Amino acid sequence: MNAIVNGVLVTPDRTLPDKVLLFDGRIERIADKNEQLPQDCRVYDAAGGYVLPGFVDIHVHGGGGYDFLDAEPGAIDAVLRLHARHGTTSLLATTLTCPDEVLYAGIERLGRAIEDGAPSDGCEILGVHLEGPYFAAAAKGAQAIREQKIPTQAELDKLDALSRGHIVRFDAAPELPNMDLFAAWTKKRGILTSVGHSAANAETVLSYYEKGFTHITHLYCSTTTEHKEGQTVHGGIVEAAYLEDGITVELIGDGKHVPRETMLLCFKIKGAEKTALVTDAMRAAGTNVTGSILGEKHSGTPVIVEDGVAKLCDRSSFAGSVATMDVCLRTALRYGVPLTDAVRSCTLTPAEIAGVADRKGSLDPGKDADVLLFDRDFTLKTVFLKGKEIGE
Ligand SMILES: [Zn+2]
Repeated sequence: MNAIVNGVLVTPDRTLPDKVLLFDGRIERIADKNEQLPQDCRVYDAAGGYVLPGFVDIHVHGGGGYDFLDAEPGAIDAVLRLHARHGTTSLLATTLTCPDEVLYAGIERLGRAIEDGAPSDGCEILGVHLEGPYFAAAAKGAQAIREQKIPTQAELDKLDALSRGHIVRFDAAPELPNMDLFAAWTKKRGILTSVGHSAANAETVLSYYEKGFTHITHLYCSTTTEHKEGQTVHGGIVEAAYLEDGITVELIGDGKHVPRETMLLCFKIKGAEKTALVTDAMRAAGTNVTGSILGEKHSGTPVIVEDGVAKLCDRSSFAGSVATMDVCLRTALRYGVPLTDAVRSCTLTPAEIAGVADRKGSLDPGKDADVLLFDRDFTLKTVFLKGKEIGE
């Protein structure tokens, strides 16, 4: 049994300053500080710092020099280790738009990696997240859309088979042809379906919400707001997200993609219960390189890394973040998001969106003991993956 003493425990709705967290592989219970600790208990002194549940990142492509699509042996584990060191204890492994053969091979490797299990010092993969390939060229951002792809039954079934049924999230542009077929297919499999890299107007987003598009991919990045189509004004993805309470959203929390006022506005309207913070990290996350590649090593797009963010070489678009989830938490706190809300958006809310809140996302008894120990300045000190300290 492990015990963390002298820490401030952060729950989704309050902070608990005088409690002790007891855990093994799972969270055992929250005890009073005056209680006698169990015998042979290993005690960690938080020294007045904070005790948080592990981060759940529902949108992440890579880190530590590797992308989840890289064919190189060890690439996937390297990404999992890098993010675990920064407090992410579970994640969705995200793909992007790339040549078919690269995507198919990548999905196949990820499906196998999920079944093999994560290395003991790497975060758990909750499933495969397909960001594309059914995106609108008009909202491509840094996605390399060379030809407009639309979903077909045959390709969807192929993707599902390659992943061994491990696709848990699929982002697409609902204004494209065949989206009724797509929505019915994802709904049947219980796959989280998200509006992403889309030029849709609010009417389209709201009608596809009814068909199962319940989430918005990186709100404010490659999304629409109110605009004119011909001589008629329309709301955009942003307005639809704010209007429909059932829609959940994610914001890239690197402090570069979304400005302070915008993040605060989103928390004010959607609340921490509907807003997840994500890294959308690419391979350069956690490194200090100045040049990198967005996507798989051989087919990807060369990018530059400057001012703490990846950019296309002509600086026409950001090309993913180089952040880790500890950075996202500190960004939200610096912007003025209350502590419990900021933590919820990095933990329980993404766990709920990913459908794993029964075992991830909070310090409730019975959940996996994914636990983070921060000092008073929110520098991460210790990470426990299912009760095991990383780096031991
Ligand atoms: Zn992404």
